[in-house]
Amino acid sequence: HAHIDHATPEKVHEAIAAKHIHPTIPDYQTFDAYRAEGGYDVLADLRKTGNFETVQQTLLDSGLRGLGGAGFPSGKKWGFVRDAAGPRYLAVNGDEGEPGTFKDRYYLERVPHLFLEGMLIAAWAVEADTCFIYMRDEYPAVLHILATEIAALEAAGIVAPGYIELRRGAGAYICGEESAMIESIEGKRGIPRHRPPFVAQVGVFGRPTLVNNIETLHWVARVLREGPEVLSDHEHNDRKGLRSYSVSGRVKNPGVYLLYAGSTITDIIAAAGGMMDGHTFKGYQPGGPSSGLLPASMHDIPLDFDTLQPHGTFIGSAAVVVLSDKDSARAAALNMLRFFEDESCGQCTPCRVGCEKAVKLMQADTWDQDLLGDLCTAMADASICGLGQAAPNPIRSTMKHFPEEI
Ligand code: SF4
Repeated sequence: HAHIDHATPEKVHEAIAAKHIHPTIPDYQTFDAYRAEGGYDVLADLRKTGNFETVQQTLLDSGLRGLGGAGFPSGKKWGFVRDAAGPRYLAVNGDEGEPGTFKDRYYLERVPHLFLEGMLIAAWAVEADTCFIYMRDEYPAVLHILATEIAALEAAGIVAPGYIELRRGAGAYICGEESAMIESIEGKRGIPRHRPPFVAQVGVFGRPTLVNNIETLHWVARVLREGPEVLSDHEHNDRKGLRSYSVSGRVKNPGVYLLYAGSTITDIIAAAGGMMDGHTFKGYQPGGPSSGLLPASMHDIPLDFDTLQPHGTFIGSAAVVVLSDKDSARAAALNMLRFFEDESCGQCTPCRVGCEKAVKLMQADTWDQDLLGDLCTAMADASICGLGQAAPNPIRSTMKHFPEEI
């Protein structure tokens, strides 16, 4: 469930204090600092004389795609929602719960107004009645920053009081799935909806809804201020644009690295300072646990949307976890399935029972590959949402790439 009252600065401070959490508030760019360098000028111009088609074309020219994991071209998505009969809503997915992903937090703790201006530009584009920001409660500093800066936007008259609704999630991974997030925003239990209808037609409170990720909106502001070239001018391994890779595991300097889209794991490990001393590169998770594991031998694949499809996986939100010879792929896969077992919303049998059964089978000394293979097929084919459909990936990829361990 979301805490469905609007999270004002006072309420956020109260909630954080009640949990005895004392977040360190980083030295971020405040409203005044952002405004002083021309922030919100783009929004003001658009509100006065903006043309939707021009803005849409700029986004398409930049190649900006949904950076929450789906990779759908942002300009096209905006067009679908704008074409649906109003009133319309905007819902921002800030439920960054994919293990290994922390790029949204990185940007929000440094330059929150790029996201906020991007969001208001999107709201202008689809003529949204209200903007809902669904933010995970595990980011207390971000909640503090957003509540404070939304209040600053209201005080400056850039938005009417209450136009931006900040909603706190309550720790469920499944609420990062867009339709479950919408259920949660409505104050209900967060479980994915059947589709169609898609949320662009029937979203929050039954209204057409644009759902965008935090980082996507951060880039919207940059593309419209700096031009589409800020993304489209970069090319590497035949891929255009830039990606924010969240890098963790056995590297010297874990963190968020903004690199060329299509960077390989070799490029990414080098950017993160190389492998930790005494560790030899063994394999990696390319995009969250749902993407499974790849071996070190696949070190030269560009990690971008679409490029991993032939290998049965995907880049998702670019959560890269690097494993070394000190790690067991089998243990990592089991850990991922335990996570899915915990986080399955329980709505459909293939996922609810399948994850639980998979965890049991994966604990055997030797994996029953036929049985696990059948189970994976049932889960992938018959689950309602991406959690259950992709949960078999760690099992399948371990069987395929690390057979000696199972
Ligand atoms: Fe819920 Fe899993 Fe079914 Fe998705 S696949 S609806 S998480 S039970």
